[in-house]
Amino acid sequence: MKAAVIKAPGVIEVEEIQTPQPAEGEVLLQVEACAICGTDQRVLKGTKPVDVPVVGHEITGRVAAVGEGVTEIKEGERYIVQTVIGCNECAACARSQQNLCEKGFKAMGYQYNGGFAEYIVMPRAAVDQGCLISIPEELTAEAGTIIEPLSCCVNGMKYIPLDKCKNVVIFGGGIIGVLNGLVAKAKGAESVTIMDVSQDRLDLLASLGLPFDNYVNTAEIDAETWVSEKTGGFGVDAVVVAASVKPLASLGVKLLAKGGHLSIFAGMPKPDPIEPIDLNLIHYGELNIHGANSSAINEYLEARDLVVSGKVDTKPLVTHRFSLDDFNKAVSTQADPSTGALKVVIIP
Ligand SMILES: [Zn+2]
Ligand SMILES: [Zn+2]
Repeated sequence: MKAAVIKAPGVIEVEEIQTPQPAEGEVLLQVEACAICGTDQRVLKGTKPVDVPVVGHEITGRVAAVGEGVTEIKEGERYIVQTVIGCNECAACARSQQNLCEKGFKAMGYQYNGGFAEYIVMPRAAVDQGCLISIPEELTAEAGTIIEPLSCCVNGMKYIPLDKCKNVVIFGGGIIGVLNGLVAKAKGAESVTIMDVSQDRLDLLASLGLPFDNYVNTAEIDAETWVSEKTGGFGVDAVVVAASVKPLASLGVKLLAKGGHLSIFAGMPKPDPIEPIDLNLIHYGELNIHGANSSAINEYLEARDLVVSGKVDTKPLVTHRFSLDDFNKAVSTQADPSTGALKVVIIP
């Protein structure tokens, strides 16, 4: 089969490798589509290490073969793939929160070969855990790839009473900011504002016809002043930090209304993740601060339903499609803001 193989940091070659065969308990998927994610970019560049030569974890596939002993999953069925695989022994795994596995989860496309290939094997631990999540025939393969990142946003937003939120601010107009905003809208937030320092990015989102209410260029407009004017000085109900910029967390706290929610979706630079925050704003304002780390089955099911029902419209999100042969072009297109790429999908 054809696969995009990491040869060295930043060196990826599309080549023929042995098509894997499913061993006992395993499932072989024919990859219909696999989207490139921001984490993949770091892995491909070599700044984030993985254990395997083939990455890609936002996968839609069809079962090509099943290993011995697999009875629930049948050849020809369509699935999307849950990324994280827990230890199946700790308390978090017992609660089906493998994303918080106390032993550290393993992941498709990180510890097991991923979806930038014609076929992918789902290991037994993933099959047993229920990492294959069924999708209907009518769902497009590229829409299926959105379910994985959307599930991470469903997870990050799950602590926020979105149906009671008048105003939500999202810092960061990348695909993750957009998906967080779409979850907020789908779950009843009245007004969603995307803030970004790139006018090109904001123009792109506006041109895609996304259902957001305001686009604010914070390189030109002061976020605190804008929020204060917009809300009569009360602040917004929720802020999502969807950009790896530490001061956005302390700024986000300042934008919140009493009882508001700050979701720190983005990971911060590992060598220096410390950011001073006015704790009295949290104390007197009874603010809520949330983290977000991947997702597990409940968030996948909710994300799948949002996509299948059309409550989250994925059509505007996939801006570019490439074959596996053009993998390197796809990666550079996604990395280059001037291309107007939001989500780039590989169709092997
Ligand atoms: Zn991802
Ligand atoms: Zn565990």
